Amino acid sequence: MNSPTKELLIAEIEKNKKELISLCSDLIKIDSSNPPGDMGEITSFITNFLSKHKISWEILDKTGSTPNIIAKTGPDSGCTLILNGHMDVVPAGDISKWDVPPFSGLVKDGVLHGRGATDMKCGIGGLLFALSMIVKHQVQLKGKALLTIVPDEEIGGPNGTKWLVENGITKGDACIVAEPSCHHNCEIGQKGSLWLKLIAQGKSAHGSLAPFAGDNAIEKLLKAIEAIRSVQDLQVFLPAKIEETMKLTKKVVREELLKQKGAEYILDHLTFNVGKICGGTKVNMVPDHAEAEIDIRIPVGLKADTVREKIEFLLKKSGIEGIQCVYNGYSDPNTTDQDEEIVETLAANVRAVADINLQKTFQWASSDTKFYRYAGIPTIQYGPANLEGIHSYNESVNIDEVVLCTKVYLGTIMDYLGYDT
Ligand SMILES: [Zn+2]
Repeated sequence: MNSPTKELLIAEIEKNKKELISLCSDLIKIDSSNPPGDMGEITSFITNFLSKHKISWEILDKTGSTPNIIAKTGPDSGCTLILNGHMDVVPAGDISKWDVPPFSGLVKDGVLHGRGATDMKCGIGGLLFALSMIVKHQVQLKGKALLTIVPDEEIGGPNGTKWLVENGITKGDACIVAEPSCHHNCEIGQKGSLWLKLIAQGKSAHGSLAPFAGDNAIEKLLKAIEAIRSVQDLQVFLPAKIEETMKLTKKVVREELLKQKGAEYILDHLTFNVGKICGGTKVNMVPDHAEAEIDIRIPVGLKADTVREKIEFLLKKSGIEGIQCVYNGYSDPNTTDQDEEIVETLAANVRAVADINLQKTFQWASSDTKFYRYAGIPTIQYGPANLEGIHSYNESVNIDEVVLCTKVYLGTIMDYLGYDT
């Protein structure tokens, strides 16, 4: 039997866009905040959708409370395109700061509101809808579309993508991660990170005797933080082939995203944020213990190991005694070549659907995407976005953006895998 054309299916998405938006709204209505990370309800909702649309699925769960949904369509014989998204969202925070309830999934004036609207319930909704169209219209794919929806990206992904990829459970020739990027843009690289805890030990004494008695841990800690701050001066060696992408990303960050002169600095430098600090017992005691947690982001062109070595060198050079350095996870920056087939296929579909040239940029944060790239799988991030409310209040996304990205997902799946006509 002949498959319908790609153009016909894209027209079907336009015709059925109400159904698509209602699916995305329903996903937002389910509170899948992480923490606490209870994915039961949203897993049932998604697997019901898959069953209803005759897409085969299974649950793989490493811990008993972190379900990964794996769904597929198409034969094992051809190549495999992985489609990935996370079903957890960051907590809504102070509800009184939201203009509409965060789990309302309200659709109003062409905008869909709620926690996860951008990051990334609508990305998941778009992938699910595109696959349902392929199955419903009996497209004879020549390869396999492998959808993985994971439970824990917002807390680092140890039992989701990391586990699936590092154990060879998820394998493929290319991958689209439906993280928010905006319909005209795809991300082909991201920064690495290094989370560090500095622990200072001192000696307690009566506060009235300082500095002649005791050893103040808080003051030592502050000195240690200043001593390692110059890790930011580490030289970055940007590979020549990505210079153009970096230049474009800097322009986008400066003029469109952060709209602040000089903000492009964050892209090709280490950033250094002291995010948490605590210490001491009481005002009239010399503190004998203090801790600080620091979030360092590593640009493309540097390795996490180089950053660690430099921190240790700076601490030693400072001569401050009694400081312990604990690393709470670190990752290298990662990129996908912009000439990869998956990038070009997506670009062709963006051109066909929206009549614009796809912009290729780097991300200043990081995500599960790194695990695919570390495994050598060419991976891009592409998904509907309104970047203003991400990980903050009043998250939303434009409906047109969701429809457009869904059309691009469908076209890219069909073109990348090929189909019988
Ligand atoms: Zn995300």
